[in-house]
Amino acid sequence: MAGEPQDDCLFCKIVGGHIPATIVRETETTVAFRDINPQAPTHILVIPKVHHPDAASLAAAEPGIAADILREAGQVAEGEKLDSYRIVFNTGTGAGQTVWHAHAHVLGGRGMEWPPG
Ligand code: IMP
Repeated sequence: MAGEPQDDCLFCKIVGGHIPATIVRETETTVAFRDINPQAPTHILVIPKVHHPDAASLAAAEPGIAADILREAGQVAEGEKLDSYRIVFNTGTGAGQTVWHAHAHVLGGRGMEWPPG
């Protein structure tokens, strides 16, 4: 059922405390933790506690929680004292998505280029 924890989902296991993560913030609906393979001095993932495969499906099913993700991304940036930062939702294999549980990457602490690679 949409939103239910999935046994084979890495991020559901982090939400459930079955896999360790360096958690920096947690709310009733979200968890933010440091990416295991950081692509910038600050690289934190903000995820919903509910399982949806990508950001668009989360927003379609639970728009309030999608908004929570964006607000928490801002809180993470403030906590990390980032003046500039990037929020990224990779969606689909061709865009680099590797974990099929919606997540925002919050990246900062270095200069960034546009367009992204
Ligand atoms: P995606 O490639 O946009 O789906 O992002 C998935 C992210 O999860 C990648 O940046 C990975 O480095 C990160 N990741 C994978 N496993 C873990 C973990 O166990 N802890 C924290 N981050 C992880």
